[in-house]
Amino acid sequence: MERVYNFSAGPAVLPEEVLKEAAAEMLNYNGSGMSVMEMSHRSKTYQAIIDEAEKDLRDLLNIPANYKVLFAQGGASLQFASVPMNLLRNGVADYIITGQWAKKAYQEAQKYGKVNKIASSEDKIFSYIPDCSDLPITDNADYVYICENNTIYGTKFKTLPNTKGKPLVADVSSCFLSEPADITKYGVMYGGVQKNVGPSGVQILIIREDLIGEKPALACTPTMMNWKIQTDEKSLYNTPPTYGIYICGKVFKWLKKLGGLAAMKEINEKKAAVLYNYLDSSKLFRGTVEKKDRSLMNIPFVIGNEPLEEKFIKEATKEGLISLKGHRSVGGMRASLYNAMPIEGVNKLVAFMKDFESKNSL
Ligand SMILES: *Cc1c(COP(=O)(O)O)cnc(C)c1O
Repeated sequence: MERVYNFSAGPAVLPEEVLKEAAAEMLNYNGSGMSVMEMSHRSKTYQAIIDEAEKDLRDLLNIPANYKVLFAQGGASLQFASVPMNLLRNGVADYIITGQWAKKAYQEAQKYGKVNKIASSEDKIFSYIPDCSDLPITDNADYVYICENNTIYGTKFKTLPNTKGKPLVADVSSCFLSEPADITKYGVMYGGVQKNVGPSGVQILIIREDLIGEKPALACTPTMMNWKIQTDEKSLYNTPPTYGIYICGKVFKWLKKLGGLAAMKEINEKKAAVLYNYLDSSKLFRGTVEKKDRSLMNIPFVIGNEPLEEKFIKEATKEGLISLKGHRSVGGMRASLYNAMPIEGVNKLVAFMKDFESKNSL
């Protein structure tokens, strides 16, 4: 069977080149006589894989020396707890609620301290990013939390909030490595890799050293979520998700070969423009979020007629345009145009939408 164009929000499309390389190395990685999957995480060969992955990630994001990189497990969802457990030294944090993932993080953090909702876009079904230039940041807040790209609703922070000197913690799961970022503006940047970077099972955290301290804020923090122990052990306290990290490493190399994150951003802008321009001109389909806040990665759109939307998704699937159904909480459609989605996929989607529009007017 031909490969499809996979618009899934995650786990999602990976670069074909990376998958082919991994396939070629499946039975015998680099003369070791075994698959990376079969290899001890304490072996020299594996140490070289994880070291190189970290080095390439540092190159791509220009990560300063005073930031630690951690490959962790448990899903981005586990970090919803590990963030407050490690950081709530004053027991206070401020959250900006721009979607379901931010809301879940906010709800989880409430178990561990006094957590304030300082801004929200829930009043308009999370279809915009609130003005965060002058928020009522709590005086003794340990951090300010955002979900930088809202996977379900398709909005993105184009400017980071003014945290008034407090460390910014950002969940970047669905925009990780989609464009350059200034790491010095973050206290913690983290995300699950299954959206834009690799297979599920790996989380990457980039943490400013001084926030790690000698021990986590909460003494009861499980060892597996203790950033001091995990970073001291360089992500090898216990068995890490070895194969997933290896694939991430390959994706980092793919990004470097492409020209790095500035080049990736240009490609992503081009791809997203193809779909947004069509949505803005279509009489059948329309985008659902405020233009200024549109994500380059996740693009939700609707017809506003459920049977016709179902028909669209069904016919698209037959054409090899897969996973266009919107998140179960919002309905409609969503096209995720992550790094590895080729522009040919977006062109094919828009051509199909035009054809569908010509045959199905409301
Ligand atoms: C998918 C997603 C999550 C949840 O990731 P899991 O790895 O399933 O826990 C959290 N935040 C954002 C922004 C996401 O897109």
